Parts: sequence; C-alpha cells; structure tokens
Amino acid sequence: MPSSKIPFTPEYFKKTRTKFVPEWVPLSRADKKVPAALHESLAGEQGMENTPFILKGGNCVIPYKGIFRLDIMIQKGSIVSVGEDLSHQGATIVSVEGKYVIPGVIDPHVHLGIFTDLDIDIVTETRSALLNGVTTMGFYLLSQDSYLGILDEIISKIENHSFCDIFIHLGIVNQKQLEEIPLYYSRYGITSYKTWMCGIPGLIPDVEDDFLLDVMEKIASLGNDAVLNIHAENYRIVNRATNKLKKATPVPNSLTVWEQSHPAFAEAEAVQRASWLARQTGVRIYFVHMSSRQGIRVATEQKRENKNIYFETTSPYLTLNLEQNLKFSYKMAPPIRTKDDQESLWTALAEGVLDTIGTDHTCMSLEEKKVNANLWDIPPGYPAVGTHLPSLLDEAKRTSFPLSLLIEKMTASPAKIFGVYPAKGTMLPGSDADLVIIDPVLEKVATPEIAASRSDYCLHEGEKLIGWPVATVKSGRIITRENFERDKDSIKGHYLRRG
Ligand SMILES: [Zn+2]
Repeated sequence: MPSSKIPFTPEYFKKTRTKFVPEWVPLSRADKKVPAALHESLAGEQGMENTPFILKGGNCVIPYKGIFRLDIMIQKGSIVSVGEDLSHQGATIVSVEGKYVIPGVIDPHVHLGIFTDLDIDIVTETRSALLNGVTTMGFYLLSQDSYLGILDEIISKIENHSFCDIFIHLGIVNQKQLEEIPLYYSRYGITSYKTWMCGIPGLIPDVEDDFLLDVMEKIASLGNDAVLNIHAENYRIVNRATNKLKKATPVPNSLTVWEQSHPAFAEAEAVQRASWLARQTGVRIYFVHMSSRQGIRVATEQKRENKNIYFETTSPYLTLNLEQNLKFSYKMAPPIRTKDDQESLWTALAEGVLDTIGTDHTCMSLEEKKVNANLWDIPPGYPAVGTHLPSLLDEAKRTSFPLSLLIEKMTASPAKIFGVYPAKGTMLPGSDADLVIIDPVLEKVATPEIAASRSDYCLHEGEKLIGWPVATVKSGRIITRENFERDKDSIKGHYLRRG
C-alpha cells in the first residue's frame, strides 16, 4: 500500500561523484551509445518477475532531484536499489545506455466505457496506455445512480482485465451520491470526486453553487487526503455563446467557431468562483483540464493564496492549437484554443501554477465521433493516452522545456495529489517497479496502430514526433510491442485503493 512506504532519498544523490546528466543529452552523444535495436533485445528479456535484473547506465529522471546516470535493480515487482555500478549475483543485466529512464507515467484523467462497454475499453485503452508509457491511470467513473451497487464489479474488471494500475475518481451529480461519499471513501478507498460546473447536454448535468458547496463540505469532512476535482466553466456563459453562434453560423467549417462557444472567460470565472467557495469549506480542490491564458491568470492568483489548490492541463492543449487547422475529430470541451493559450500553459507549468498533465482520454472511433456530421452535433472528446508521452517529449524537446520538470508533472506530482506516492510516481528503493525507457532521438510518425487504442484515429496522426518510449517496465516486467502480444495474458493491472 502506498501509505506503508516511506519516502526515502538515497545517499548517493548527495555524493558529488554521482554523474549528473544534462537535461537533454545531445543527439550525437546519445545516439552513439544506443545499440542498434535495443527495444528488440529488451523484448527477449522475459519471465523476470522474480529473478533480479539491473537496468544499467540509463539517464534516470528522478523527480525533484534531477537527471543522473544510475543503475536500477528490480526484483519481485519493486525497485530494490538505485545507484552507481550496481551488481548482484544472478541478476540479469539490461543495458539502457543512451536512454532516459523515467517513472511510469500517471495519467490522472481518463474516461473508459463511454462509447462502448467498459469490458472492451478496459482492455484496449489500458493497452494503449501501457505500450506508450502510461502505467497508472485515474479513471472517471460516472453514473446517475448510487455507486454502491456497481463498484465491486468495476474493481473486479480492473483486477481481471486492465494492463495498467487504476484509481477511481467518482462523479458526484446528485443528492444520493453526495450522501454516500463517506461510504465510497471508507469501503473502497476512493479519495477523489468530481463535479461539472458545465456538463455535457443530455449526458452530464451542470451543478449549481449550492450543490457544489454541499459536495465541498462533505469532502472536506473526510480529511486531508480527499480532493474534489472540478470541471470549471460557467455553463450559462457557454450556453449563451453557443446559442448565439448556432444562429450566426449554423454550419461551421472550422473548430474556431467551437472554441468561441466555450469562451476562455467562462473558464476563468468558474475557477475564480469555485476557488472562492472552496476556501469557505477548506476542501482540497483540483481543477481539471485548464485550457486558457485567462484561466491561468486566475489560477495564478488563487494558487498564491491557497495551498490546497491544484491545476491540471492536458497534453493535447500543450501540443495543439487552432492555427494548425485541426480536423473535427479534435473537437473537445473545453476546446483546443489559440497558440497564445498554448504558450501560457507551458509558462504555467514552468512557474508551478500547473501541477499535473493528463489527457482527458475518451476512446471513440471516427464513426462514433460522427466526424462527417455538422460540427454542432459532433460529440466532444478524443483518444489521447497513446500519444500523451511522445507528443509532450517532442514539444518539450523542440522548446527546450526541462525534461525533469516535465516528467515531474506527469509522475510524482499527480501521484502525490491523488495519494499513490511514493509507490507510484518515482523510482526510489521500495517504489513499485513501474518505469519507462525512452529513446530521446527516435523519430516516428504517429499512427493509430502505434497508439494501439480501439480507436481508428489518433491525435497528431501523420506527424513525425521525436522521442518515444521503447519499453515500459510494469510491476517489474519489461514490456515492449514485440513481447506484449505473447505475454499479455499474464500482465495484470491492479485497482489502487487509497485512504
Ligand atoms: Zn474528462
């Protein structure tokens, strides 16, 4: 259990002889050290669940510490030791020279079972995640009824069919669910909940301030590990803008019109209001998918005054903008916005205003997305977990954004906020052996096949991205595209009980 593990910083991080590695290893230097087909040699390593192995000579990205050339010894699903020149009798040596080794990525924002049965999504979407470096996900479960009747079954689906570890966030949309929050917390170890200040017509109801306050008070009463996640947009401003635009532009030909229907100031206003309400109740609050410069401006002010407030953005908002003439398959709520908004998000990451990066992944095929319909009728959402890590590596590298800071926001930071650190989100002795091995110079064109989701399209499709995961270590097993098909029956994700 996460709570039983003690955060521990090994001595060698303080020693001067530890080889510190610059943020991005120069291409030529990294390149020379890479054996021609390392990912193929990794694929051969198997059945190492119980025998110890050592990942040798990788550039290890240790959250809050930096990047060091270190060896990592792994046994029985855990990291046993991290240090220089490790050796151990009987241990298999796996060279990862020239590669970065990062903690398994945590995507704190994933939807499953929206356009198809959960039984299908839980297999295909966790496969997409695992093969692309995401080893843990925060799954938004939403029902209109009590969750007490369904949680046992959902947890057993996770235990039996998921390739990733999963913790659950529960949507709270009515009085009954609100009253049952303490039961969800005590029986199932669920510490995070969500409300939508702006829902999706016909699917998710908008909440009013009085209900929001009730939810906040209830969650605050659970204790310091509980947190309320909020979709912050003022729904009346969104509805007003939408109605006007539908009249003026009944058949839009660009996603710009969709962006205008969710004005950035609707996000800013809702962040301001919910932050204010949260401070009256003392609740820990986490804003999902921040998308705009105006929203960030308010976030910056609120963050200064409240230690219990966190902000998430998503990889699509960080890597895409309207100037790219995006197809209708990129329709999202909140929308992908301007280049200026995109830049403000990177600045907010650098300045510590944004705490985490998720995806808001929702698997849908082009047919389910209804891409040929009128833009107003196309459902928001897209598959994003499969392109999460490579798209961010590519963008960060091109803009020289520090790799260590990027990885911190994708691993340790969400792990801490959602109560799974240091079992997840870092690579200290005692942490779960969930790691990703990244080739910083590997160039590949993003395709739905690589994303490996059920969906027949992916974000960044056809774009050449630099920097890809070549292997994922999940619970102490090295998993590559080459060995996944062979070994998949024995790869098991787990439900992460918290609290
Ligand atoms: Zn979402």
